[in-house]
Amino acid sequence: MTKIWVDPARCQGHARCFMIAPETFYIDDEGYGHVVEGREGAYEEENTRKAIRNCPERAIKLVETEDA
Ligand code: SF4
Repeated sequence: MTKIWVDPARCQGHARCFMIAPETFYIDDEGYGHVVEGREGAYEEENTRKAIRNCPERAIKLVETEDA
């Protein structure tokens, strides 16, 4: 299964992902981006794709997982 994942080692907390696709990304108390629970598979949606493209740190990745 393909899932969206924010690499915490790359995320610098610009919040651009949240501004573009708040349905898919949220910002924690320290300003770092995360994927909203249940939205890990929304990578084909236009807004989410735009957010992934616009992350200045290229911190948002698509990863393959074993679980269905
Ligand atoms: S846009 Fe990228 S660097 Fe900024 S908060 Fe989102 S994932 Fe992190």
